[in-house]
Amino acid sequence: MTTTPSSAQQAPSRRRVIVVGGGSAGCVMASRLSEDPETDVVLVEAGPDYEDIDEPAADNVRNAWLFGFTSHDWGYVSDDHIPESSNTPDFAIVEQGVLPVFAGKVTGGGSSVNATNALQPTKLDMDRWVGLGATDWTWDEVLPYLQKIENDPIGGERHGSEGYVPVHRWTADNGLRPFMQAFVDACAEQGHPVTADLNGDSQRGAGPVPLNQRDGVRQSSAVTYLKAARDRPNLTILDDVQVDRVLFDGTRATGIVLVSGEELLADEVVLSAGSIGSPAILMRSGVGPKPLLDDLGIEVVSELDGVGQKLGDHPLVYMTYEADADAIGELLPPLQTMLVFSSGGPESDLEPDLHAIPFTLQPGLMIVAVGLVRPLSMGSVSIRSRDPLEKPRILLNLMHHPDDLKRLVAGVAHVREIVASPSLEKYVGAELWPGPDVVDRGDISRAVLEAKNTYVHMVSTCSMGDPGLPWAVVGQDGTVHGTQNLRVVDASIMPVIPSVPTNFTTMMIAERCAALMRQ
Ligand SMILES: Cc1cc2nc3c(=O)[nH]c(=O)nc-3n(C[C@H](O)[C@H](O)[C@H](O)COP(=O)(O)OP(=O)(O)OC[C@H]3O[C@@H](n4cnc5c(N)ncnc54)[C@H](O)[C@@H]3O)c2cc1C
Repeated sequence: MTTTPSSAQQAPSRRRVIVVGGGSAGCVMASRLSEDPETDVVLVEAGPDYEDIDEPAADNVRNAWLFGFTSHDWGYVSDDHIPESSNTPDFAIVEQGVLPVFAGKVTGGGSSVNATNALQPTKLDMDRWVGLGATDWTWDEVLPYLQKIENDPIGGERHGSEGYVPVHRWTADNGLRPFMQAFVDACAEQGHPVTADLNGDSQRGAGPVPLNQRDGVRQSSAVTYLKAARDRPNLTILDDVQVDRVLFDGTRATGIVLVSGEELLADEVVLSAGSIGSPAILMRSGVGPKPLLDDLGIEVVSELDGVGQKLGDHPLVYMTYEADADAIGELLPPLQTMLVFSSGGPESDLEPDLHAIPFTLQPGLMIVAVGLVRPLSMGSVSIRSRDPLEKPRILLNLMHHPDDLKRLVAGVAHVREIVASPSLEKYVGAELWPGPDVVDRGDISRAVLEAKNTYVHMVSTCSMGDPGLPWAVVGQDGTVHGTQNLRVVDASIMPVIPSVPTNFTTMMIAERCAALMRQ
């Protein structure tokens, strides 16, 4: 049900915070901020909110074993050029020559449609943030917030056991499929370490993927954090309500304007609309690069060239193989194990920059997704007009930097060696992509460019950084430079992409920013 908060009913001593976007970060923010009974929180989400996750319309939100294609999507595509090719794997392709940019449109956002890979950022990831000026975001500072998110039965000092989000690993004791164990064995045959905990101290090697799912149910920020807060009288959830822009008095945010034209007032506005949504709202509100705002006739509130720039994402390709359906057996759960490795090879001491993840989604087919998790390429997001219903221009720029292509090609070549290892012999047949004729590095490079896809981890379009840095949009607490009472808290404020899928890092940002706001 949608209710509209009335500013007339607000007692003078109370504070009202509007959180725009109920995704991974937004649900954490709404939940933590509404723990303070003196704060009224209004969460505004463009998609539906399922109080009952078992209702039929929520099926692909509830089912953790369905991911990617979903009815709860913004329908974005990238401007990246993808040549039409008869040899490109059709998995995760909506249409040949078109690269979809999935983005959840539902409470939980990305965490309601994602693959539930619950990898945490590494210490080196946080060192890079500090190196870019986010000096408050050290590993020691963020670890307690990572622990606060999770309830991980693996235990140990590194892990939390009381968080809202349960973490599950498939093991021999609870249903690890023989084929998935064979993948880990094949990695070991190629010299990789085997680990029981990819969120442990080393964070490299082959082993079970930590997954935020329970009994096949996706444990999104909506079914965990938001659920815990739903019944609080000081939390209002407005679903199926899209926000146009922020309302300002000078440079002070005073509320938001909905697509319907209705205005909602607040003492503070937090944008948690994600790496595409947040920069788009900022630009429509007059916060962004002046030439673009001038072109579109938008009055400048704060000139920030970095809004929409520095988009980071992990490029990925889907290696596909014929598989022996009888040997593989049950196809579900489709994702259980993975390899975290370095493009320097198994013997290399270099920081891991590649992931390989086997999937089985249809009989007779095996897919290994190979993703580059320390990319150097950067893309951008910008609005095309002032119309909030017009989709933004998104350029992922995947593998624009030649080093990214080189390292992903090294990953493809190495995964071939893993797939050819004795442990996988009885499961896997002919290679369908890149295909047996694609042998030398030049041919593999061409194939990778034709089939490039995304791991769907867009970040950094409203980067944290000191004011005055050309790319900086927010300060270390999410406050938007040149404005008051306005923050961005979501994946878009990461100074640089971490070397892991981005959901837990995003929730950690929200946990920490909510704590800062409550101080
Ligand atoms: C298909 C897919 C698979 C992924 N797999 C994984 C994985 O396995 N593991 C992992 O760690 N990460 C994964 N990710 C990435 C991860 O889910 C995201 O990094 C994370 O969800 C980002 O959180 P966010 O809060 O920044 O944005 P989101 O979660 O996208 O939240 C933004 C919210 O704002 C809403 N919104 C946007 N604009 C407006 C507006 N104008 N008005 C009102 N509401 C608005 C959106 O509907 C959405 O609910 C995946 C993402 C996708 C899409």
